[in-house]
Amino acid sequence: MVRVRYAPSPTGSPHVGNIRTALFNYVFARHHGGKFILRIEDTDRNRYVPGSEDDIKWSLRWLGIEWDEGPDVGGPYGPYHQSQRLAIYQEIAHRLVEEGKAYKCFCTPEDLERMREAQKAMGAATTMYDRRCRRLTPEEVRAREAAGLPYVIRFAMPLEGTIGYEDLIHGYTEFRNALTDDFVMLKSDGYPTYHLANIVDDHLMEITHVIRGDEWISSMPRHLNLYKALGWEPPKFAHLPLLLGPDRQKLSKRHGHVQFVEFIKEGYLPDAMFNFLALCGWNPGDDREILSREEIIELFSLERVSDNPFVFHHDKLLWMNGVYIRRLSKEQLVEYCLPYLQEAGLLPKELDEPTRAYAERVIPLEQEKMKVLKDVVSLTDFFFRDDYPIDEAAVRKWYTQPHIPQMLEELIRRYEALESFDAESVERVTREVIAWLGVKGGEVIHPVRVALSGRTTGPSLFEMMAVLGKERVLKRLRRAQGWVRSS
Ligand code: GLU
Repeated sequence: MVRVRYAPSPTGSPHVGNIRTALFNYVFARHHGGKFILRIEDTDRNRYVPGSEDDIKWSLRWLGIEWDEGPDVGGPYGPYHQSQRLAIYQEIAHRLVEEGKAYKCFCTPEDLERMREAQKAMGAATTMYDRRCRRLTPEEVRAREAAGLPYVIRFAMPLEGTIGYEDLIHGYTEFRNALTDDFVMLKSDGYPTYHLANIVDDHLMEITHVIRGDEWISSMPRHLNLYKALGWEPPKFAHLPLLLGPDRQKLSKRHGHVQFVEFIKEGYLPDAMFNFLALCGWNPGDDREILSREEIIELFSLERVSDNPFVFHHDKLLWMNGVYIRRLSKEQLVEYCLPYLQEAGLLPKELDEPTRAYAERVIPLEQEKMKVLKDVVSLTDFFFRDDYPIDEAAVRKWYTQPHIPQMLEELIRRYEALESFDAESVERVTREVIAWLGVKGGEVIHPVRVALSGRTTGPSLFEMMAVLGKERVLKRLRRAQGWVRSS
């Protein structure tokens, strides 16, 4: 039975790379009919950021990634917050001390600082704990304990030899033990460090595959030696390629959004994001790019995960999201877009029937153009307010032309007389005016569009007018009559 876990530390709102890791774990579990576990690694109290666990859960649920065991769900392995499992780690750390595989270290922060300074003064490129407490005799240890000195527990790394493992993505990888510090497993306040808690839980929770970011490869000599010291069989490991920005630097704020919740707020669709993230380092074996969740789950394999860093292109994501937006039914699109219009103050929080019906006609007009849902605000604002921005250059260009006064007068007169203000009738009347003026179509259509929307591009003019309705159209054309006089 495959059991994988996503093990975030609540040290901030999750990065898109973290959620990619969660997604790969989830898809792998579903592909194999296994379990996906969420475990909150909250043992670093200095880096704890309140609210980050909520953002982690929000991000996963928004994507449709449900965990089988973990916070709010439970499971047979005890609490899934490491801060609630301290006694387990403490017991194991002390057991290793008794077995001579770990030791108590009484060095103070000042001792460690002096040690580092001395090593630097000797020209060392990197500094390391010099293992002085590893050499303490049992009597010396007892004396220090009796004096009430605080201590940490350090792992006694083998001083020679190598340790290796077969990475499911990177292949066989080996490390020289002597290069790794006697790292701290248990801090003086009784909290474990990441290394101890992480491997203890992976073992106790019967994790079969550890799928996580490449940045953890450097922890492998510690983890593998810990497994060996504890006599436990390590799980299989797969380290996912880093996400880079287009400049091939680590993906960061400089490249645009990186916090996952920012993507949610911007108006990406869960299905598009799911599809896009799955392709951040994995491919289905052909050049297909638009894949449903079911297809991804069916096709996913770690063999098809690249061992090269992956370049995250925001414009590719925008394109893909546009594809998914265009696939929505009108009803779905409206449901997705209404909150953005409400948030922007273009629609009231409580929608009465006529306002809702109006919005239902407006929003689909821009379905083709939207890349993110938030675009609905700038694309449709003129439908919902009269003080929309006006393209002054377009006003100067059109409203100084000799046919405009007559055009406006004639359009207003004929639109007023229309019984039904539907797109066809409006178009018929407009074409009559074009013919009557003896001008080209564009010489009426463009200035009218500027009058009605303030801009030079937008949805089909006649449909737009039908949706705006007679009253708004007449009001805006009359206002444009003022532009003629002042131009
Ligand atoms: N708590 C670690 C993190 O925040 C987990 C790393 C791992 O998956 O082992 O990424």
